[in-house]
Amino acid sequence: MKKYDVLIIGLGCAGYTAAIYSARYMLSTFLVGAVEGGLGITAAEVGNWPGNIDITGPDLMENFRKHATSFSEVTHKNAWVKKIEKTADGFQMLLDDGETVEGKTLIFAMGSNKRHLGIPGEERLSGKGVTYCATCDAFFYKGKDVAVIGGGDSAVEGAAIAAQVAKKVYLIHRRKDFRAEPYWVEKVKAKENVVFVLENNITEVLGEQKVSGVKLAKPFEGSDTINVDGVFIEVGADPATALAESLGCTVDTKGYLSVDAAMRTNVAGVFGAGDITSGSNYFAQFVTAAGEGAIASNSAFNYVQAGR
Ligand code: NAP
Repeated sequence: MKKYDVLIIGLGCAGYTAAIYSARYMLSTFLVGAVEGGLGITAAEVGNWPGNIDITGPDLMENFRKHATSFSEVTHKNAWVKKIEKTADGFQMLLDDGETVEGKTLIFAMGSNKRHLGIPGEERLSGKGVTYCATCDAFFYKGKDVAVIGGGDSAVEGAAIAAQVAKKVYLIHRRKDFRAEPYWVEKVKAKENVVFVLENNITEVLGEQKVSGVKLAKPFEGSDTINVDGVFIEVGADPATALAESLGCTVDTKGYLSVDAAMRTNVAGVFGAGDITSGSNYFAQFVTAAGEGAIASNSAFNYVQAGR
């Protein structure tokens, strides 16, 4: 069986960048992942990718994909990785279609999974008005009332995008200050159809067959419920570390894959990049993910060259 120099898991900003660098180091590279473009495709407007003022997340990720897959050194596949094991001189992974792939080094770049609130009605009405990507799903709520939960970039950007099509957007955030970029906060404040429900939270999603409203922790304008057709839950994401942990990689106290400045994990030959790691001070951005992907590939190159 062919043994690749580097196996990269994750088809987002970090994974694609790692593949571009690996290819240019002339490492035989196997790039695999389940979701083409990763969370990057959820950004309606990127705005901070240097050199490209006006690009959407899907377009940026499509450029990355084309670039990464343009090299003959890169084998690219859409698949889930079911299992990874250490072998005598590298790693072996099993894909969901039964294929087994071997490599000398491994880069985890699987990003993160959207967090759920765990409140009554949430799972039951998931896909029936409850969604976890405001920018992806807002279009389906034209002329309707929706609620966006959270105060980070995803929620505030999501509220601004939703306000372009929805009748009314309730932005419900548990604090009065937002952690989102001031750019997005200003943008959403300028929207006349956005109602700020601050220092509050939702405790239940209401509805039988589909969402009809949300229950609040505290009354807002005299009522402890708000009638909406859609609830966009944007309360952050947790790093997808399960596979890495199964291989013996350690995670930090916040649950992120522990890496050093060279993106090395505690397991020899295993590296991490992007939102899954504790690198870049937890600043999950396109630029930091790309930077980490480049460093991880450089470290994989050094590891392969040293013949370990
Ligand atoms: P985030 O920055 O972690 O923000 C999550 C938000 O949800 C916070 O406001 C948090 O409240 C709130 N929250 C968390 N748990 C909650 C709970 N149980 N109940 C109610 N509220 C809860 O996540 P994010 O907005 O998804 O962003 C993740 C990363 O992606 C960030 O680094 C962000 O900059 C980046 N991103 C960038 C862009 C862009 O540049 N275009 C777009 C989207 C995301 P507190 O504030 O009180 O903690």
